[in-house]
Amino acid sequence: NFSLAQLQALDAAHHLHPFTDHKDLRGAGSRMIVRADGPYVYDSEGHRILDAMAGLWCVNVGYGRKELAEAAYKQMLELPYYNSFFRCSTPTPVLLAQKLAEIAPKSVNQVFYGSSGSEANDTALRLIRQFWVLEGKPEKNRVISRKMAYHGSTIAGTSLGGMSGMHDQLHGAVPNIVHVMAPYAFENAEPGESEEAFGLRAAKAVEDAILEAGADKVAAFIGEPIMGAGGVKIPPRNYWAEIQRICRKHDVLLMIDEVITGYGRTGEWFASQAYGIEPDTITTAKALTSGYQPLSALLVGDRVAETLTEKGGEFYHGYTYSGHPVACAVALANLDIIEKEGLIDRVREDTGPYLAKVLQEALGDHPLVGEVRSFGLMGAIEIVADKASRQRFEPSGHAAVVVRDHAVVSGLMMRATGDTMIMSPPLIWTRETIDTAMEMIRTALDKAAQDLLK
Ligand code: PLP
Repeated sequence: NFSLAQLQALDAAHHLHPFTDHKDLRGAGSRMIVRADGPYVYDSEGHRILDAMAGLWCVNVGYGRKELAEAAYKQMLELPYYNSFFRCSTPTPVLLAQKLAEIAPKSVNQVFYGSSGSEANDTALRLIRQFWVLEGKPEKNRVISRKMAYHGSTIAGTSLGGMSGMHDQLHGAVPNIVHVMAPYAFENAEPGESEEAFGLRAAKAVEDAILEAGADKVAAFIGEPIMGAGGVKIPPRNYWAEIQRICRKHDVLLMIDEVITGYGRTGEWFASQAYGIEPDTITTAKALTSGYQPLSALLVGDRVAETLTEKGGEFYHGYTYSGHPVACAVALANLDIIEKEGLIDRVREDTGPYLAKVLQEALGDHPLVGEVRSFGLMGAIEIVADKASRQRFEPSGHAAVVVRDHAVVSGLMMRATGDTMIMSPPLIWTRETIDTAMEMIRTALDKAAQDLLK
């Protein structure tokens, strides 16, 4: 048995963490999360923390689900691994693909598996470029994305994404990807501009980019229905229908990244259904297994799949763990829980609207809060130094970290991204859990105000 201090020393000495400044690990050391149950995680010192992030937007059915452990155990004994290369298959990825085709928007029917969202987006990019080559239009190879988008950390994922800090460290992006304005009204709308007018203007930025390149040069547009890591940026209601209209008009494929929004988070299986759009590809991962196994599924539309099948021959692409039998067995059991417990209906009809109401009631009047917003069980709180002018604290990003650290001390795990606090709790949260979380956030905001408004 290792003490916390010993584990922290080993962690700092040998473990390179994702998205971490390693000097911090040498100083304060990392918090060791050692177990979890229901909506809570527990650290090595016995602190119980309400997890408002569902891990990293993924543990939709909550922690401690024996059904998922049993599904993995059973599959491991029966067939722990076999691949789906070279005309082999195994049953669980087949059954999962059929289930995904059943619950996804009608426009997508075929599934390509990977282990992560980054891999799924990488695959999607290769797939759609190959599609246009097979269609006899190899010059249609550009992709339009948005600033502040997050599409993963591989070179393709980082290039597709629009995070400037990540681009600074890329040293050689995938070419032919351009980034336009995000539909983020809090910072990008003009004073007095209506939601509808801003939605049309943000969509027009995409059309302008298509026209500037020439529609015959543009392969696809990619976007998260609601930007997650960029700060839970919820677009105006008319944005997605307009984007779809523009893409169809210019014969540009619509690639939707539902790595965060998939599997119930917005009160539908997929946010594409909440917004009434029919994408050509949908990338998913995370809550497909509620994070209990690494698995991603790229859902592919009939047009793209048909061309690849009819004209493509072999597509030289795949991962050792594409369609991993154990991960797929866990996914099937996870989707079963989501369905049987009515978690999606609960988000749409009960907890989603309730979160929207209490965010406003409990936090809307706080001096540090510039705006609250939510959709289903994704929420954001904009932290400002001055409510009226929406002026931010200096340096950028500091204030939200102060709020986050107070929240963890009060027993709530939230995330700070830029000047925005974000949350994405397990779908098992009830109204009571939401009330508890609001009290903790209010306390954290009060303490942060004492630090920041001195
Ligand atoms: N796309 C979106 C929208 C994401 O939020 C993420 C991860 O947070 C990814 C892709 C990348 O997924 P992964 O971390 O599984 O590679």
